[in-house]
Amino acid sequence: MILSNAGGQVLVAGSANVDYVVRAPHIPTPGETVLGGDLTIVPGGKGANQAVAAARSSGAATVMLAALGNDAAAETLERSLAGAGVLLHAVRSNSPTGAALITVSETGENAITVAPGANMALAPTDLPDLAGIAWLVLQLETPIDTVTAFAQAARTAGVKVLLNTAPARALPAELLAAVDVLVANEEELACVAGEDGSIADRLATIGTSIAIVTLGARGSCALANGVFHLQPAFGVRAIDTTAAGDTFCGALAGALGQGQLLPEAMRFASAAAALATTRAGAQSSIPVRDEVERLIA
Ligand code: ATP
Repeated sequence: MILSNAGGQVLVAGSANVDYVVRAPHIPTPGETVLGGDLTIVPGGKGANQAVAAARSSGAATVMLAALGNDAAAETLERSLAGAGVLLHAVRSNSPTGAALITVSETGENAITVAPGANMALAPTDLPDLAGIAWLVLQLETPIDTVTAFAQAARTAGVKVLLNTAPARALPAELLAAVDVLVANEEELACVAGEDGSIADRLATIGTSIAIVTLGARGSCALANGVFHLQPAFGVRAIDTTAAGDTFCGALAGALGQGQLLPEAMRFASAAAALATTRAGAQSSIPVRDEVERLIA
């Protein structure tokens, strides 16, 4: 599992999907058929997006653990991850590679149906040797028992765990107990910490050393060992916020893995995420390190 002797490596364990996207005049109502534009097929999935962000935006040595089918969609993902410099550790499944069927309306609304397929085959026993890994990055698009077992194994091995609580769901206490950094958006924070009280109070109830909420164009806030930190968003012309949250998480893990302190790493992640909103797409919208450094400078 060791990619370089530099240390600080990031392992992202989680989902990999191919997104099948069609633009249509409007999102079909039940029973309706709508004629849309051309189909675009793009690599996505929260785990794979975060791995691409860690490697491409921060330059951190990054490994991705994902369950893939034996199909053309798996090849699409393999190419995208390799192109970003991510080392893929694939578990093969007889199920099809995960797919997201996305309709985008003229007004920019979307409707998404995910067929998780192979992602649901990722098992607790699939975690590779963690030698050389500094940070394990997890999300919630694979079985919760697997996510929990991975977090616990990392904790035992002295590897830091960053959990992105997406998509929103309640979390088992044993998972939370093994997490160092939790990253949630507003909806996910409501799910994990309720809707009453200030953001700082709600972040405090989570109980992880560091809890972060991302607030879209309003930036992000962290409660880190009792200290509140606010990171404003970078001013950009956003055209498509797909994968903004994933870019934030991947770039944050990469920056932390490279030894940046939290405020510095949040600034870096915010810049990377802001740039991702200026381009269409998921993995294809994620910026390279030079672009992030130029925005920060
Ligand atoms: P998504 O599901 O669209 O990937 P999310 O809901 O998980 O996103 P957000 O809170 O919307 O996550 O965005 C994550 C981070 O991306 C924000 O904290 C911010 O730093 C950056 N960001 C998002 N939208 C904008 C924007 N319009 N302008 C600048 N930065 C943005």
